This record gives sequence, structure tokens and C-alpha cells, in this order.
Amino acid sequence: MKSDVIVVGAGLAGLSAARDLAAGGATVTVLEARDRVGGRVEQVELPDGRRVQLGGEVVGNAHTSYLGLVAELGLTLVPSYVAEPGEITRQVPESVDVGTWPSWFTDSDIASYESVEAALEKVVASIEPTDPFGHPDLHRLDQLSFGDFLREAGATAAVLRAFDLVHLSLSDGSIERQSTFAYARKQAVGGGTAAYDVAEWENQRVAEGSATVALTMAAGLSDVRLASPVSRIAIASTGCAVTTRAGEEIRADAVVLAVPCGPARDMEIIGVSDERLTSLRRQRHAWAAKFVAAYDRPFWRDNGQNALSESEGVIGSTWPQQEGVLSALVPPERYAAFVASDPDTRHREALEQLAGLYGDRALTPMQTWTRLWGTDPWTQGYVTNWRPGDVEGVGPLHGTHEPPFYVCGSDQWVAGYMEGAVRTGRAAARAVLKQAALTGEVS
Ligand SMILES: Cc1cc2nc3c(=O)[nH]c(=O)nc-3n(C[C@H](O)[C@H](O)[C@H](O)COP(=O)(O)OP(=O)(O)OC[C@H]3O[C@@H](n4cnc5c(N)ncnc54)[C@H](O)[C@@H]3O)c2cc1C
Repeated sequence: MKSDVIVVGAGLAGLSAARDLAAGGATVTVLEARDRVGGRVEQVELPDGRRVQLGGEVVGNAHTSYLGLVAELGLTLVPSYVAEPGEITRQVPESVDVGTWPSWFTDSDIASYESVEAALEKVVASIEPTDPFGHPDLHRLDQLSFGDFLREAGATAAVLRAFDLVHLSLSDGSIERQSTFAYARKQAVGGGTAAYDVAEWENQRVAEGSATVALTMAAGLSDVRLASPVSRIAIASTGCAVTTRAGEEIRADAVVLAVPCGPARDMEIIGVSDERLTSLRRQRHAWAAKFVAAYDRPFWRDNGQNALSESEGVIGSTWPQQEGVLSALVPPERYAAFVASDPDTRHREALEQLAGLYGDRALTPMQTWTRLWGTDPWTQGYVTNWRPGDVEGVGPLHGTHEPPFYVCGSDQWVAGYMEGAVRTGRAAARAVLKQAALTGEVS
């Protein structure tokens, strides 16, 4: 059997690539390891019709590829949890407090926070996201952990603790294990000016459910094969061969690899340069889990809380994903403690932590779900973690193609997210079609 293009992985990236390839006249086969499409977007439906998201949910103003795709698919964008009334809650061992500033901040900590933000603003403004390697201070800023940057900028202990808490809540790696350059580049590409701003990055969601974006794309494709994990990719200009774990070999003129970096490392890939493969395999993920609890109503509002929280507990953050549904993330720094517990204990402790945040009403959800994304073999993570030295370690070949071998996926964009998946998926399709037009392979 032969296709023009094989796409490996049916997440948002692979499906976006396949959709555009098919629209461009290519015969496309999508091979997906799981028995469902969507990858890191996944949803379940409650009996009352609410669609509950177990993976990616929200997007921001700069996520133009994703927003454009949603419009093309005829789906609807609505305000996300950012519009939820009430105030943020912070949970640390010595207190649970509600309000804009952490309770442990003094006036001089607020001044320190503002001066650190000003220092960060300068770094963000100095970065051209598409040309990281042209930055005169790349090496120093990439080697420098974000924690050390904050210390150099004069952050007080209270300010460091507040930033650490934000990063536990984001679950993309502690401030001590993040490259300052990568962090600042993410803000630059996302339209931010200094520290991560949820109002900019997370203010919208798809009303029909974010996984509906993937399901809608898959419904328009004619050859998506589920339960077909790929174990080997052989690339040659005379024709490529992709082999599934079951031993089936499928041939094509080009291959688009659309899997996260962990599963990509598990594949045998031949016919691609060592440099390209080394760069691909050098990336790493932050491991996180998602815990979701559905209630009949948003009871947190009774106490003036908006269900957005940052915590030093096993759960690092919560937010309201929709009416009455709480999402929570377990950050990399707590993942081992969470996974090492038996499921009943894990469940009970997660609800107890929610009760510590929002009161005993949190102990009796209608239903809960736990997704251990970090140890899921087909994800092996959550989002890319750019540790100190990783921007230079992955190097300028990041996200690049070596025709007829193409890559896409949120790992292949500087900032991850569903935007990264759609943006790189569509770009990979354009690159394949351009190359095919040159060689006359696709009419
Ligand atoms: C809990 C959680 C919350 C998130 N929240 C947000 C959010 O709110 N906003 C946001 O923008 N982003 C969020 N993200 C990130 C976002 O969901 C991902 O970046 C994006 O969906 C990744 O898409 P992708 O296609 O690149 O990769 P994936 O979705 O991981 O798709 C890759 C596909 O490849 C398949 N695969 C793997 N190995 C093989 C193999 N050997 N053979 C064949 N197929 C294989 C996988 O099964 C999967 O379907 C979140 C992620 C998680 C896990």
C-alpha cells in the first residue's frame, strides 16, 4: 500500500497537517498509536451534556493559527476562566489566602516584584522569537536559570517564593530548572511583555470542547488508522517506509512526524542526518498529571473565590474549566509523590486539598478523572521543559524539516501549547506541498 504522505500521530499537529495536505491534493494516511484521535486533547461527556476536558483547554490572543483553525471548522470561541468573577487563592503550608498579592508580601516585596518585572521586560523586548541564535546574549541567558535571573535582578525571598508558586501552578518546571532565555522567548512570542500573563495566554476556549477541534478534523479525513503505533521510519528520496509495531509496512513519498519528543525517541528512524535526529531527541518534557472534578454548580463563588489557585501542595493549581467543573494540575516536582500513591489515596488526598482551598463542598464531586500524562507512553510528559542550556542544546535545527522527513507538534514551536501544534502542523503541510510541487509528485 502506498500514500503520498504518512502522518505519524493524530494529535492537533498531525491532524492539522493531514487536513491541509488532503486539501492540497495529497493522499494521506494518518497512523495513530491510541484508539482515539486528539492526543493531548481529550474529552468525556457528563450525563448532563457538559464536555469535560482532560487535556489542553485554553488559548490566548497570540494563538492565531489555532484561532484561525477554530473559525475554519465553524466552532465557537468563548471567554475562558479568566472571566470568572472573584479572586485567586494561594495555598501554602502556613496559610490559605484569597487576594491579588500573596499574604506574605510586604510593601518592599511589592517594590521588588515590580523591579524584577522591569528587568524581565527588558530581556523579553530584546528577543526576536524567530531568530534566537542571533541574540548577542543567548549563551548567558540560556545557561542562567530563571531563579538565578530573579536573584540577580534583586528578588526578595518572598518574590522568589511567589514566582516559584506560579511555576508550580503552570507545571512546566521549577524556576530553578528553566532557561531564562526560553522563558523570555515564550513571553515574546506570546505577545507578553514580562512575566506569564494568563489574561494574555489563556483567555479563550472552544465552547464545543477543545477536543472537538481534533474530532472535527479527523471526521474530514478518509484514512486515519487508530491503534497503529509506529516503531520504525525509513526515509529515502526514492521512497519512505513506515513500519507499525504489528509489522505492517506502509510506503509513501514523505513522512510527517507529529509525536511528542518522548515517543519520538522510542522510534527507530533511519535515513535522517545524525544532526537532525540529535536535535529532535535532545528535547524533554515536564511531567504532569491532570485531576478534574465535576460538581453540580460553581460553589466556590459563594466565598468570592474564582477557583483559580496556586498551591505548594501536591496539586499545584486549579481553575474553573467551565460551569461547575474544576481542573487541577500536578506539577513535575510533585508528580512522583502523586503517582506513587495508590489510586484511592491519590483521589482522597486530591479532594482534601481542594477542600482546603474551597471548603468541604469540594469533597463530594459528581465525578472525578485523573490523567497521568507524564507516564502515558504516547505522551511521556505534558509540555516541553526548556531547562538551562536547552535552547542551545536543541540548537538551530529545532522544528526544521529534512525532506522527505518533516516534523510538527507543539514541541516544535518555541512555546508549546495547542497553538504550537496547529501552527507547526499547518507549516509542515505547506512545506510538503511546496516540495511536492517542485518535484511534481502531487498534482
Ligand atoms: C493536562 C494538559 C493540559 C494542557 N493545557 C493546555 C491548555 O490549556 N492550552 C494549550 O494551548 N495547551 C495545553 N496543553 C498542551 C496541548 O494540549 C498540547 O501542546 C497539544 O495538544 C499537543 O498536540 P500535538 O499534536 O503536538 O501532540 P499530541 O497531542 O501529544 O499528539 C501526538 C499524537 O501522537 C501519537 N503517538 C505517539 N507515539 C506514537 C507512535 N509511536 N505511533 C503513532 N502515534 C503515536 C499520540 O498518541 C498522540 O495522539 C495541555 C496539555 C496537557 C497534557
